[in-house]
Amino acid sequence: MRRIEDVSAPSSLAEAMAFLRRRPGAVPWAGGTALMTDPGTWDRPGGPSILDLGGIPELRGVTRSARYVELGAMVSLSAILALPRGIGLGMLRECCLSVGTAFTRAMATLGGNLCARHRFMSCTPVLSCMDAALELRDATGSRWSSVNRLVGEDGRPRFPEGSLLTRVRVPVARWSSWALRQMGEARYPHPGAAVFVGAARFEGGAIAELRIAAAGLRLVRDRSMEMSLIGRRLPLSRKESSTAGSSLAMKALELEADRDFAGLLESYTVSFLQRAPEEAL
Ligand SMILES: Cc1cc2nc3c(=O)[nH]c(=O)nc-3n(C[C@H](O)[C@H](O)[C@H](O)COP(=O)(O)OP(=O)(O)OC[C@H]3O[C@@H](n4cnc5c(N)ncnc54)[C@H](O)[C@@H]3O)c2cc1C
Repeated sequence: MRRIEDVSAPSSLAEAMAFLRRRPGAVPWAGGTALMTDPGTWDRPGGPSILDLGGIPELRGVTRSARYVELGAMVSLSAILALPRGIGLGMLRECCLSVGTAFTRAMATLGGNLCARHRFMSCTPVLSCMDAALELRDATGSRWSSVNRLVGEDGRPRFPEGSLLTRVRVPVARWSSWALRQMGEARYPHPGAAVFVGAARFEGGAIAELRIAAAGLRLVRDRSMEMSLIGRRLPLSRKESSTAGSSLAMKALELEADRDFAGLLESYTVSFLQRAPEEAL
């Protein structure tokens, strides 16, 4: 049984930030689906303070423009699934659908998915590939930054202490082909659970854009490998795909990911690169 120091349930962002200034180590409580089921989310010793985000209307907004969709951190995964299809959020939709049951998705939020401190949840590699931006707020104010800022040099999560995620801006993208796969047999909350994401845009029979990422305990993405394939004619040769696969596996091992993860990442990458042109939408 965990002893809780105190609980704050603010009704505005300003009140929430005032509480965080007093208790920078407080645990933000969003849907609670990870906090209630995964002991790994409790990385702080002792009896923490809880900051309940459920009563803050500013965190539940959804706005759309021609170029992006902006989602408040407390938007639930089921609310994302209820957005109209065809607005360019295909990969994120699929990712939300893959999380738990309908009951879990109704409680689970996008913010809670992105802010886990002990491992990456499914939406982080997806939003990394979609070039999403995050609005983070702390005692000094708010700023926008890339999803990749939540990834440390060692490939592990690096969420800044005393901060709240408030909004997520997802650029609308049209991919020619994309894939989202659970890697191997392990499923969340097993520590070996991991997700592979690949997305490509083809133009004139060549690769115009490419994103590949995988995440579990670490997030692996290799921008130089992606860039090296831009402009290559389709279909890629087996050698081109294998070189890309082994470069990502090497990167995973450099980050001290386990060998199973690195091996799966290599084979999912090769398979995505070989199949993507045939499966182009
Ligand atoms: C049966 C089951 C299956 C699941 N399957 C999956 C799966 O396949 N893939 C997957 O990714 N997840 C899975 N989950 C985990 C979880 O449901 C999701 O990751 C969910 O999106 C977490 O959101 P939440 O709002 O419940 O987060 P919470 O549990 O409320 O919080 C999670 C973490 O984020 C922090 N946090 C929350 N909001 C903020 C914020 N705005 N700013 C700063 N920090 C914040 C919390 O302090 C905590 O550390 C599963 C859970 C269950 C119960």
